[in-house]
Amino acid sequence: MKCTLVTGGSRGIGRAICVKLAAGGGNHILINYKDNETAALETLELVREKGCTGEILRFDVGNKVEVREVLGGWIEAHPEAFIEVLVNNAGITDDTLMVWMKDEQWDSVINASLNGFFYVTKLVLTNMLLKRYGRIVNMVSLSGLKGVPGQTNYAAAKGGVIAATRSLAHEIAKRGITVNAVAPGFIKTDMTQHIAEKDMKAHIPAGRFGEPEEVASAVAFLVSPEASYITAEVLGVNGGMFS
Ligand code: NAP
Repeated sequence: MKCTLVTGGSRGIGRAICVKLAAGGGNHILINYKDNETAALETLELVREKGCTGEILRFDVGNKVEVREVLGGWIEAHPEAFIEVLVNNAGITDDTLMVWMKDEQWDSVINASLNGFFYVTKLVLTNMLLKRYGRIVNMVSLSGLKGVPGQTNYAAAKGGVIAATRSLAHEIAKRGITVNAVAPGFIKTDMTQHIAEKDMKAHIPAGRFGEPEEVASAVAFLVSPEASYITAEVLGVNGGMFS
């Protein structure tokens, strides 16, 4: 059974990725979430409407014990399954100027994106190496490329994932496994609902925020067999903001 795991698949960009990949047919989709079971079940329903199978998996990607117990447990219980596509999409922001930033704000943001990438990818990697095939896409951000005031935690987390993407890609390219990152600009999700599009659009060459589906299309290409010679790349999906 070939599988795709999308972390943070319950809402926003992660949901759009699950639905897009389901529409392309093929893999059983594992929809990870942390708190919002109702939203995760809605994503599962949308996946099924596209004619694909799937299931929801609750774990906090930044909690290594939970990742090992839940995801590691799932892998052990399904020896016939091969997670050949991994999208490390889960992430949070908790913005404030560094002078005011609490330890917990730093830790939680680093945990969700950077440590989550490490804990989840390590569990999935062994099988990809054995099967000599895999597609890994890490959701990063413009913030991790250029830096944004108020986001030292988030920029550090995403910048760390970008560096790790390139290093891991170099380690495993010969095994037929690609590792890429997608860096969205402003995308309409719960994460950006407090940011007024009308105030920001003058800074975006495309003149608008992006849709989650526009990010999902980029991911769908990178995880396809056709993208076999693209690795260690960071693909911006930002309406021209940092290009
Ligand atoms: P969102 O609408 O806030 O959704 C976040 C998703 O991540 C939810 O499914 C949430 O699960 C899950 N999640 C958060 N922390 C988690 C954890 N510790 N363990 C497991 N799941 C967790 O965010 P989004 O806008 O779709 O963002 C998705 C990714 O794109 C993030 O990595 C974000 O940094 C990145 N990004 C977004 C934008 C943007 O403009 N929206 C721009 C650049 C990059 P629950 O539903 O259970 O809470």
